[in-house]
Amino acid sequence: MPAKILDGKVMSAAIREQVACRVAALKDRGLTPGLAVILVGNDPASEIYVRNKRNGCEETGIYSRTIRMAETIRQEELEAQIEELNRDDAIHGILVQLPLPAQLDEQAALAKILPEKDVDGFHLINAGLLMTGGKGVTACTPKGALHMIRSTGTDLNGKEAVVIGRSNIVGKPMAMLLLHENCTVTICHSRTKDLKTHTRRADILVSAVGRAGFVTADMVKEGAIVIDVGINRVDGKVCGDVDFEGVKEVAGWITPVPGGVGKMTIAMLLVNTVEAAERKLAGD
Ligand code: NDP
Repeated sequence: MPAKILDGKVMSAAIREQVACRVAALKDRGLTPGLAVILVGNDPASEIYVRNKRNGCEETGIYSRTIRMAETIRQEELEAQIEELNRDDAIHGILVQLPLPAQLDEQAALAKILPEKDVDGFHLINAGLLMTGGKGVTACTPKGALHMIRSTGTDLNGKEAVVIGRSNIVGKPMAMLLLHENCTVTICHSRTKDLKTHTRRADILVSAVGRAGFVTADMVKEGAIVIDVGINRVDGKVCGDVDFEGVKEVAGWITPVPGGVGKMTIAMLLVNTVEAAERKLAGD
């Protein structure tokens, strides 16, 4: 039987509806959640991501501000802008759109964001809180992917989870979230030997590599939940890492690209922003 589709469009629409209700409740109490996005330069892909984030804010009633900075800015200028937003009471979430131009130090810039306003969950404090099981802000893409995995209703206790990719923004936090769900987690990367022996054991397989057609049907266990985080462009068309047509014949559940994890990433950004505003109101 072909896999059931984990539809990011449907799931993210439900989340955005809940966010809109929470925003309305905050507004009733005199607080409008605000998200600031800093966009350095004019990378076309970043422009699209920023526009989608702005649209998500508009739809849910979150105040959004896009700050455009020139490609050639210096580190001090970027950090000064972040510090200004840290002090701004109308802004509850700050996001620096990545990647940054080569002359800028990404980690140093992210470290300047107040951890409570770090709605991307990339600050070292939030990464550390995720590692230690504390209450931090969780990175949007892994948070969205976990939501999709949970939506299958599968008991995750003791399940074999394999994450391909070990980046700080996707692979590692994804693995940590699955570990907190009591999965037995394996992280694979470019030096992993015989990748297929790992992936074929996976009840939950997450691919965050960035290569079209990377995960093929012979790498997938029958009935597995397959989460495709990859975003690739082939002949101008967006696709994931997973050979969707082949893998859907083997997997139990699968996410499409487009219309999968990407939609959830933006929904979770809105959730993180509204949560930051709620914490502010509660005086945490
Ligand atoms: P990175 O390039 O930082 O990480 C890619 C990972 O894939 C690395 O850990 C790398 O291993 C691993 N890898 C590369 N080749 C192989 C291989 N042959 N076998 C096994 N592992 C391999 O990418 P990101 O984590 O930032 O993003 C991954 C993908 O997800 C991209 O397509 C990106 O566009 C997409 N993405 C999607 C989002 C969404 O909202 N849907 C959000 C963020 C990213 P090593 O560490 O050894 O180099």
